[in-house]
Amino acid sequence: MTARILVVDDVPANVKLLEARLVAEYFDVLTAGDGHAALATCEKTPVDLVLLDIMMPGMDGFEVCERLKANSRTAHIPVVMITALDQPSDRVRGLKAGADDFLTKPVNDLQLMSRVKSLVRLKNVSDELRLRAQTAQTIGLQELARVDRPDEPGSVLLVDGRASSQERLTRALKPIADVAVISDPQAALFEAAESSFDLIIVNANFDDYDPLRLCSQLRSLERTRFMPILLVTEQGNDERIVRALELGVTDYIMRPVDPNELVARSLTQIRRKHCNDRLRASVQQTIELAVTDDLTGLHNRRYLENHLKLLIDRATTRGRPLSICITDIDRFKRVNDTHGHDAGDDVLREFANRVRATVRGADLACRFGGEEFVVVMPDTTPEMAAIVAERLRLAVESRGFDIPQAATVLNVTASLGIATLRPHGDTAEALLKRADMALYQAKNGGRNRVVAAAA
Ligand code: GH3
Ligand code: MG
Ligand code: MG
Repeated sequence: MTARILVVDDVPANVKLLEARLVAEYFDVLTAGDGHAALATCEKTPVDLVLLDIMMPGMDGFEVCERLKANSRTAHIPVVMITALDQPSDRVRGLKAGADDFLTKPVNDLQLMSRVKSLVRLKNVSDELRLRAQTAQTIGLQELARVDRPDEPGSVLLVDGRASSQERLTRALKPIADVAVISDPQAALFEAAESSFDLIIVNANFDDYDPLRLCSQLRSLERTRFMPILLVTEQGNDERIVRALELGVTDYIMRPVDPNELVARSLTQIRRKHCNDRLRASVQQTIELAVTDDLTGLHNRRYLENHLKLLIDRATTRGRPLSICITDIDRFKRVNDTHGHDAGDDVLREFANRVRATVRGADLACRFGGEEFVVVMPDTTPEMAAIVAERLRLAVESRGFDIPQAATVLNVTASLGIATLRPHGDTAEALLKRADMALYQAKNGGRNRVVAAAA
């Protein structure tokens, strides 16, 4: 993971110390000796994270943080406040100023790295989301452009062996999450796999159970592999914490738990989970848009050409039949000429609906272009393909097409050509070509009919 980190502290020795540790982990480090310099750097260079001292002459850390968060160009940069251990009130003020997390002086290496990595990961996904939103905005996809939504409450699974701490942690998390509590770690594993949580908090306080065992099991199950885990653990057991982080625990917090710290850490994980979920959904939608025909909602030609190759490979290796059908609406130009282009579009939409309603779920229906459609039918012999094609021909011919645009009902027919994959050395191009030639014969033979290509 590489990221650019800005270290802000008025004491040069503190800056040097943090810089050296971060550079050793291959982070790119910038430094600033006061608040004004920090704000200027964030304005003019892309910064992924700010480590911010509180006590500075002139502008203090709270004010720097407030200004960063108030500026739309810098508001998305995570800020970690460096507070003194004996000043819990600083943490509350820091959170109010918009800080994402805090570290206490003297800064422990392990804490520094786990917090920095955790926030940089969050920033990476949210940057990606913002970029996609920009693109979506540019090409006019408002649905995809809405990413900067307010925080939605998270769903948290708290695994905790003691009633008293269950109660305390649940109360602290209440403002940001719905919390389900479970005492038995094994039952928790099932619960986590069954429901979908944004965060699992494991309080390491069981009498005779190693909590890292649960963490490791959560990481190995398909359904829980990507759920963030926050471990609540004893002070001064760094080796255990390193082990936990190696096992894939996302972050940790020391006892006694400061409720503000718990909220800040939990919020970071919940946000990241939500961002990741949205990103995944957006990738899915983008893929769908790229392979879908706007007018009919069927797959487009690009998708067909890619996917047909895969289906052919699979049919060939498994020795299964595969047939395709190309269908073209008869005399479609006349519809446009007589009733207008919009009426033509209505016909195309209704035609697509009838194709969809006729084929099986396993079949792939596409708009190949203009008024030409292709259906790919895996596991389908030439005889079965002829039956499906005839059923489709009838579905078109037997009922008029409602054209609201022209307040009329039109009779539509289509011609169909079918072809079946040859067992050896056949290709998508050759198969489409044979079906197309059969279609040509159907047109020549008088239209509104099915012709099968010679095997
Ligand atoms: P044939 O029976 O030989 O197939 O005759 P045809 O008129 O259907 O065939 P031709 O290929 O001459 O004309 C197809 C027409 O389809 C021409 C084109 O303007 C129209 N077309 C192609 N795409 C669209 C579309 O998206 N919307 C509309 N409304 N018309 C389209
Ligand atoms: Mg036509
Ligand atoms: Mg045509």
